[in-house]
Amino acid sequence: MTLGRKLALVTLAFLVLWSAHTGVGHFGRTQAASFSGLVNEAGKLRIHSQRIALLSIVCGSYDSRESAAIALCLDAIKRSIDNYESSLQIVANAPFKLLFKSDRQQINAYVAELQADWIEYRTAAELVLEPMTEGVLSDQSQYFEANNERLLARAEALTELLVASQRRVQAAQDKVLNALQFSGLLLLIVLALIGYRQGVRPLRELALLARRAEQGNYGWRLDYQASDEVGELVEAFNKSNLRTQHLLDQLREEAEIARCAEIETDSILESAADGIIISTNDGCIVRINREAERIFGYPREDLVGRSVNELVPVRHRKAHGTYHSRYLRKAKARTMGGTIAAVRRDGNEVSVEISLSPVQDGSQQRMIAVVRDATQRLKIEADRQRLLSIMDATPDVTAMFTVDRKLIYLNPAGLRLLRGVSIEEVANQRFDDLLTAESLRLMCEQAMPKALSDGLWSGELKLWSESVGEIPVLLLLIAHTNDKGKERHLSAIARNISERKRFEAELLQRATHDQLTGLANRVLFEDRLKQAIYQAQRNDLMVAVVFIDLDNFKLINDTMGHAIGDMLLREIGRRLEAHLRKHDTKARLGGDEFAVILDRLSRPEDAIPIVQNLGEALRQPIRLRGRELTVTTSMGVSVYPADGSNTETLLMHADTAMYQAKSAGRNRHCLFVPAMNLQVSERLNIENDLRHALAHDELRLHYQPVIDAKTKVVVGSEALLRWQHPRHGFMQPDRFIPIAEESDLIIEIGQWVLEQACLQARKWQDSGLMPGFVAVNVSARQLREPALTQTVQKALELSGLAPYLLELELTEGSVLQGTVIARQILDEIQGLGVRLVADDFGTGYSSLSFLKLFRFDKVKIDREFVRDMLTDKGDAAIVRATIAMAHAFGATAVGEGVETAAQADALRHCGCDQLQGYLFGKPMDAFRLQEFMQSR
Ligand code: C2E
Ligand code: CA
Ligand code: CA
Repeated sequence: MTLGRKLALVTLAFLVLWSAHTGVGHFGRTQAASFSGLVNEAGKLRIHSQRIALLSIVCGSYDSRESAAIALCLDAIKRSIDNYESSLQIVANAPFKLLFKSDRQQINAYVAELQADWIEYRTAAELVLEPMTEGVLSDQSQYFEANNERLLARAEALTELLVASQRRVQAAQDKVLNALQFSGLLLLIVLALIGYRQGVRPLRELALLARRAEQGNYGWRLDYQASDEVGELVEAFNKSNLRTQHLLDQLREEAEIARCAEIETDSILESAADGIIISTNDGCIVRINREAERIFGYPREDLVGRSVNELVPVRHRKAHGTYHSRYLRKAKARTMGGTIAAVRRDGNEVSVEISLSPVQDGSQQRMIAVVRDATQRLKIEADRQRLLSIMDATPDVTAMFTVDRKLIYLNPAGLRLLRGVSIEEVANQRFDDLLTAESLRLMCEQAMPKALSDGLWSGELKLWSESVGEIPVLLLLIAHTNDKGKERHLSAIARNISERKRFEAELLQRATHDQLTGLANRVLFEDRLKQAIYQAQRNDLMVAVVFIDLDNFKLINDTMGHAIGDMLLREIGRRLEAHLRKHDTKARLGGDEFAVILDRLSRPEDAIPIVQNLGEALRQPIRLRGRELTVTTSMGVSVYPADGSNTETLLMHADTAMYQAKSAGRNRHCLFVPAMNLQVSERLNIENDLRHALAHDELRLHYQPVIDAKTKVVVGSEALLRWQHPRHGFMQPDRFIPIAEESDLIIEIGQWVLEQACLQARKWQDSGLMPGFVAVNVSARQLREPALTQTVQKALELSGLAPYLLELELTEGSVLQGTVIARQILDEIQGLGVRLVADDFGTGYSSLSFLKLFRFDKVKIDREFVRDMLTDKGDAAIVRATIAMAHAFGATAVGEGVETAAQADALRHCGCDQLQGYLFGKPMDAFRLQEFMQSR
């Protein structure tokens, strides 16, 4: 129902109620008025009846004479009767319709009773009126007295009934009025409630939503349903809100799409690798991107608004203007030819490549210039060219190939290997064609898998070339991966290492071979020996180690020179190679020491004939520079497993055996026997003890007199060293001097001897004896120490001995071992005034040059010649020649080891100047020599 209708209905209802209320009120009031008239009439009945009664009584009381009064009285009675009649009539005729039925019936009954009583009463009254007799009146008065009361009561009862009825009606009326009033109130409340529920509340909420909508929030809906105008309004509002929201969403979506599109365009523009400049047709820059900022060095806010002309170098601006206007006439996408110079903000020029395209922006036409910084490209191009030129120039073979080894690139060095293949044909070739079969296998099995997994492989393999053959190379294999981490191709850089390989082989050869003889060196020897032992162990065989030492090689070397010595060693090497089995290892361990491994022997004795033959072969004369030399060897043999189970022991025992052969007189071989070890250990013990000999004051000097051959006067003495060993007793120098020489102890000992001898000579001198010179023996080892001069000087200063009384005895070998340095030292010593003596002369090989080289003051003929000169003509000749030679060089000749007078005579006969030997005196201590001299 519409709100209007509802309002009309409510108004109608209200009007009905209101008119009912008014009607009832009005009716009540009218009824009450008429009723009060009625009650009045009923009351009048009482009054009239009473008046009648009263008047009747009054009339009765009157004298007949008082007729006027009576008439008046009667008349009054008559009027009262009429009045009573009319009132009764009014009451009886009253409708009483609005009274309750019971009241009405009762009233009617009361009225009927009153009417009945009235008829009697009136009759009685009328009697009064008619024949006016004295008696009647009094009778009537009595009647009235008697009945008036009843009539009165009846009238009163009626009046009361009427009043009561009227009250009841009035009360009912009031109830109706109240009910109507209450209904009106109720209606009002209902009306207010409905008005609130269906009007105020939804309208208020609507107003709230309208305010929200006003603020742009269209998401709210009012949940109100009614078929009235408010309901329609709400529905319309909801619908309009929904639609507005929908429209808004649509709008937002479109805006978002537009925004995204713009961002996309922006980001495309900004992320473009090329610079982008958008300008108007007249060249005004409207937009640039980041790359353009970078290229031209302008922040965009600086560049936007400027003319593109400012980016053109001044010298090109005119041409640019022409180009620009020509372009505008027929604008279409095109690239400006080549690289173009542009000006940066800092004034520097930058090379760029530009492509132009027109674009329609709304009604305006714009130009888009895509600018590419060519600096990088030019640099890359230059780099590429450089790289290519390196690739072209490098002798390293550089190749690129796919994972299945199809060649992609091969540099000229590589192409030279694949002769006849041009750079264009490379793609038809495989990397395999560059490799030897074995290297290809290595490539497939190791190099490529490793490079593909680790990125890199490097190693050595061999390239194959039709013309050169195998080329050893150091190959660096690199796996290149694309962006997705998938291998795409490999590159190989191969460096020719032939030279290095050769060098390495040479190094290996050097490291394992003796350079002089080409034989194995100690390292290789020991390695081979180890293998031989291992083999022998497995096959239950034996291995012999032969240690070979040339006899007197030092002497040859010293006297004939190193060149001859080297030739000799080479010849020995050749003979070893020639006279031994091929698989036997021959080695030079150092100096004149050689060693041989004789493997696969069944018995130790098997080695003996081989060693004997070898000795024989080596003993054969050798011709060197026109001279014939015979070299003997001392050989020691040890056999695995009997003489040792490892290389060290076997070598040591062979060395021991060799040493034994030397001790036994050289030019022989010895098989190792455990007893030899004892000798070795004794030697070691001696060396050990010798270290303490000086400190323990165990060394002594003995002196052997030297006499003048003619006068037989003692002209001097030779100091000879003795060792008072705590356990071995008195020890001869032959037994410990070599050990002292080998262990360098000789330096210290030699110094002691020098000082001691000088002091002693000085002592003799001081005690008045004339002992002449004192001769001191000097070892080769001492001559290698430049400090020898100082040692000699110190001994002289310490003792105060005159230098010319000191003689130093040197053997040929000792002097020639280090010719240059020895020469220098000896010059210095001679410069001090000390005399030099060539000791054991004649035993060496180059005695002549020895004498020529050094200005010796004295030459001592070796005692071997003296011993045999009487029996051996050769020796006698040597003695004679030596003396003559000594004299020729202005030196004194001394014969030593003179044991017999015949020898002394012979020497004297040959012109020998001085003599020394047991014949004149054995070496003796200083005290004894003093006695000896005094006795003479
Ligand atoms: P040498 O220099 O040839 O000394 C001469 C040796 O001949 C001495 O042997 C001496 O006792 C021995 N002798 C002398 N007259 C005769 C003789 O008539 N008949 C025989 N058969 N022998 C004779 P010694 O003392 O045993 O010395 C041996 C070698 O030891 C010396 O040979 C010398 O080379 C070396 N020597 C001795 N003392 C020293 C020293 O203080 N320093 C150095 N470096 N070597 C020394
Ligand atoms: Ca000597
Ligand atoms: Ca000597």
